[in-house]
Formats: sequence, structure tokens, C-alpha cells
Amino acid sequence: MNMGTKYLSILGASGSIGVNALSVVRDFPDNFRVRYLSAHSQADLLIAQAKEFLPDAVAIGDETKYRAVKEALPGIEVLSGRSGLLELASRNNVDIMLNAIVGSAGMEPTINSIKAGVNVALSNKESLVMAGGLIKGLLASEGVDLYPVDSEHSAIWQCLSGEVPTDVKRLIITGSGGPFRTTPRGDFKNVTVAQALNHPNWSMGRKITIDSATLMNKGLEVIEAYWLFDLPVEKINIVIHPQSIVHSMVEFVDGSVKAQLGLPDMKIPIQYALTYPNHFPQSWEQLDLAEIGTLSFEKPDYEKFTCLNLAFEALKTGGSLPVVLNVANEQAVYRFLNGEIGFTQIPELIDQAMNKHDFLEHPDLDDILALEVWTKSFIKRS
Ligand code: NDP
Ligand code: MG
Repeated sequence: MNMGTKYLSILGASGSIGVNALSVVRDFPDNFRVRYLSAHSQADLLIAQAKEFLPDAVAIGDETKYRAVKEALPGIEVLSGRSGLLELASRNNVDIMLNAIVGSAGMEPTINSIKAGVNVALSNKESLVMAGGLIKGLLASEGVDLYPVDSEHSAIWQCLSGEVPTDVKRLIITGSGGPFRTTPRGDFKNVTVAQALNHPNWSMGRKITIDSATLMNKGLEVIEAYWLFDLPVEKINIVIHPQSIVHSMVEFVDGSVKAQLGLPDMKIPIQYALTYPNHFPQSWEQLDLAEIGTLSFEKPDYEKFTCLNLAFEALKTGGSLPVVLNVANEQAVYRFLNGEIGFTQIPELIDQAMNKHDFLEHPDLDDILALEVWTKSFIKRS
């Protein structure tokens, strides 16, 4: 492959996306060199990754684990805590920072890397949900590119390649429908954590797996698409596609529709974001459409999956609403995972937080951080 060597920073290396990204790096040792890695709590995994990939520096979020990481990695710079992560994210001697951190904790690292002039491969969709306007402004002023990692957005990015932006009629974002696609709404109150974690097609971290069960993930992805592709909300549609083979589509003004297909394996969009504009050879099994047999599509059920309506409302109103939507969702999901609230309370609590907060038309970074604190505490005490 004559791409040369790309220098990478992988933040959130210990998570589902991070581990998949390192497996892509492992497949192409001549094309990638890992400079920075971060983990939040999984010190042992971070140590093992650092021993294999020999980065210049690592950051461990949990400060109580700093000493253990430092002692295990002589010759490697070790940072810790939130400030350590934010400092790593600000370093400019990498070609791409892959943001594989989960949740609102990923927003500032995205901003720091862009400010440092570093291109960002973004799986942390929450960054764009919370600070899309701010990030767009910074991308333009710093001349930095954002490479989508989310499979739907990678699909749209690929479908738009070589096309004239004004020829686009609409984006069609596909979603599997999650584990409760056919579950009657009346049964939602009895949903257990184990059932919600049992996604039919994708293997992912716990937070996004719950988001995929409530369909909030699709809502967050609509907001993500709005910022990535500069289209009005009316031109961003959702279609349910239970097989997760068509990853999304773009329809043009002449009615022609382009789709991107592939197996539901995140290594595909991760690898593309890291090798763009090249496609590198696959290390996964071949897509066999005859074996799959049927690709089906249906309308999303907005009455059953009310998180979708909350996300559309947040996007249409804008201002501080998407910030509160995102943080309230994340906190409610953690409370559900901890067994503190039921499945149906997730949208209820988000709705309450959206209604009760002091609305801001144009929140700046300090406003967003303050809203994050307010929303977290609101959901914790609700
Ligand atoms: P995981 O939960 O598997 O991993 C999250 C990563 O973030 C881990 O490295 C974790 O560290 C780290 N982390 C957790 N909390 C913090 C914090 N407060 N500060 C800094 N780092 C933290 O998540 P996923 O890999 O599933 O998802 C990552 C992102 O990618 C999410 O935004 C998700 O929506 C998006 N995404 C994921 C997909 C998937 O297939 N998994 C598909 C599309 C998008 P540690 O584990 O050491 O505590
Ligand atoms: Mg996705």
C-alpha cells in the first residue's frame, strides 16, 4: 500500500471501537504508527496495548491507576486524569486522532485536536450532538477534516464521493430497529437490562447498545448527519433495515439512490476513516448477498420509540436542547444499566430535562460545559 505512514492518536483505545481500530493498525504495520493511546479505567488493557504498539505516551483517566501504569511502562510517557487526556488530545504531531471515547467526555478531546490542527476520525458522535456548530466553525478556521467512523455516516460519505452537493435530495439513514423492533409498546415497561443489551446484529459498548434499543442512537445519528453533511433536517430520513447490510443511502434529485453495503463489522468504517481516500484489503469475511437472501425495509415507529421524537425536536429547536438531550440520555442510560430506573423512564427523564433547563439560543463552550453539569445532576436526582 503506498499510503505512506500515518501517525495516530487513539483515544478510548480500551473500548469496542478502540480495540477494533488497533486490530486494523495491527493488519498494516507499515502504514500506521501509534503515537498516543488513552483508556479511562482499564489500566491492564492499556498497558498491554502500549507494550504491543509502543506509543510515545499514554493517558489513564483513573488517577489511582497512574502509578501502576507508569511502573509497567518504563520509557513511555504516562499522563493521567481528565487533564492528561485533554493534553494528549492537544498534541499536534499526529495525522489523525481517532476519538473512540464514549459519551460527553469525548467532546473536549475533539475540540482540542481540531484546535491543534489535527484531523479527527470521529466515532464519538456525542461531540457533534453537543457542539456541532462550534466544531463546524473550528474545522473551517483550522482547515481540519472530520472523517466519519459511524457506519451510517461512513456510508453517506462514500455515497457522496464525486457528487455535486446541490444534487442531493435526501439522506436515508438505516437502522436495524434494535432488539425491540417487534416488541409491543405495552411490554416496554418489563424490559430487562440483559434484553436491552442483546443487540441482534452489532457488538458494541454498553451505552450505544442501549441507545440502539431505545433508538436514541438513530436520533443522535440524525443530528450527527446534520452537522457532517450540511443538509436541513427535512432532508434527513430514517428507514429501518433489520439485516444491517445497507449502511445508509443518498437519494439524488433525479430519483437515483446510491447505497453502501457491507457486513455489520465496525472494522470496515474504522479502516476506511484511517486509510481514506484509499480502500485497503479486508481482513474479514466476504459479503455474500445470495447467502443473506433478503434485505427488507420498514418505517420507524415513532409512537413506540419516543426517543426519536425527542432527538428531532432537539435538532429542530437547536440551541442548548441537543446538549441537554445528549447528557440526559447518557445519564439515564447509566441509571438504567445500574438497575435504578426502568426502560420507559429513559425518554421520560430526557423529556423532563429538556423542558426544565434554562434554554440558551447560542451556547458557547463554557455554557455547554455548565449545561452538562446541570443536566447530570438533574438526572441523578430525578
Ligand atoms: P466503549 O464503552 O466500548 O468504550 C469507551 C471508551 O471510552 C473506553 O476506552 C473507555 O475507557 C473510554 N471512556 C469511558 N469513559 C470515559 C471518560 N469519562 N473519559 C475518557 N474516556 C472514557 O464504547 P464504544 O467503543 O462502543 O463507543 C465509543 C464511541 O463510538 C461512542 O461515542 C459510540 O457512540 C461510538 N460508536 C460505537 C460503535 C460501536 O460499534 N461500538 C458504532 C458507532 C459509533 P475504559 O474502558 O478504560 O474505562
Ligand atoms: Mg451507527
